[in-house]
Amino acid sequence: MEGFFTRKQTESINAGAGGRVYTCAGCGLYRHCESPRMKPYGEFKKGIACVGEAPGQVEDERGRPWQGKAGRLLQRTLRKYGVDLFRDCITLNAVNCRPPDNRTPTPEEINHCRSVRTWKALQQYQPRVIILLGSAAVESGIGHRWSGSRSDNLAKWRGWTIPDQDLKAWVCPTYHPSYLERSGQRRELMTLWEGDLDRALEKVKEPWPRSAEPEIEIVDDLSFLDSVAGSSGLMSFDYETTAIKPHAPGHRIRAAAIASRPDHCWAFLMPRTKAGRAPLRRWLKNREVAKMAHNIKFEHAWSYNILKVQVRGWEWDSMLAAHLLDNRPGISGLKFQTYVNFGVVDYSSDVDQYLRSAPNAPEGGNAPNRIDKLLKQPSGPDKVLRYVGLDAVYEYRLALRQMERLGWDFLPF
Ligand code: SF4
Repeated sequence: MEGFFTRKQTESINAGAGGRVYTCAGCGLYRHCESPRMKPYGEFKKGIACVGEAPGQVEDERGRPWQGKAGRLLQRTLRKYGVDLFRDCITLNAVNCRPPDNRTPTPEEINHCRSVRTWKALQQYQPRVIILLGSAAVESGIGHRWSGSRSDNLAKWRGWTIPDQDLKAWVCPTYHPSYLERSGQRRELMTLWEGDLDRALEKVKEPWPRSAEPEIEIVDDLSFLDSVAGSSGLMSFDYETTAIKPHAPGHRIRAAAIASRPDHCWAFLMPRTKAGRAPLRRWLKNREVAKMAHNIKFEHAWSYNILKVQVRGWEWDSMLAAHLLDNRPGISGLKFQTYVNFGVVDYSSDVDQYLRSAPNAPEGGNAPNRIDKLLKQPSGPDKVLRYVGLDAVYEYRLALRQMERLGWDFLPF
């Protein structure tokens, strides 16, 4: 594997956030094991990558991955679905040296090894399907790209088949087989695990779907809304506001976006005059326009309190539908749903820090965020409009997918 990347590429890949350079010397695990820097292993005939946690004692002694009890369980289970671990897959780990006493690798060690080996191997082999086995593998494959809640909560990640747009592969997290072994192969856990593996392996035959970049049309004059108001199709909308709740004096809606197709939306800064906002108010009031949002309570409350209008024509709440389809905690947010459904990671990093209220602010949910500071920067308005536009489009795409899955007959096309 060494030699695949040029020096320049290696340097840029090895530079983490803030220019931090990750190296084996910085990690140090190679000093304590029999088989340091274990190489990816397997013939990779079916284009599957299996990423585990770390070599254990048996693996370290033999210099090959998946040799112990957990490895045998993985091999047996994959065989049920016609897959041979070492012939059809490439196997690698979140850390590729055995940690002393088989302890769990630290996030720091995972960061080092991702940069030095694991991420490079995934880019070199270009697997069709990447099965992430356990929390360390999820941290290695997803964690560094995830600015929201960390990837350590495996319960919310397992079971998804994610069309990852960076890796251009189906990313499929599930339990590590050693967890199943430790549980005594509890029946309900085994059922979930086998289901996860079955779904992941099905994806070997399915083309990886590219998520098309939507067109975000920036508009100043909202009078066009009067001409789309008679449309019978579904329309999503999303606001960017100065706080989470609208009730304190001085709070404002700063930007909004409306999507009527999965590939296009209009995005605008909120007009300062009553006349400028009037077409939006008419559009919101028009019950003939079927509307959706991701958490309609939010858009409804801001429309009512700030624009003084009752929204009519609510048709869909993609947050509620996400919860109906899968009620695990911590998964119904739009960023999480966008990643697991469309493989788009973290499109909000440009604006995130400005949209958070200060933690423990005395105003609680009414505390102001820093969107106004961002809007004063030369590129601030564009960043906000792109962000709100992507929110509107992804919630629209999500709603269409949910309707399909739920057999809902409100399909505008
Ligand atoms: S675990 Fe990875 S980064 Fe750490 S020493 Fe081994 S090969 Fe290098």
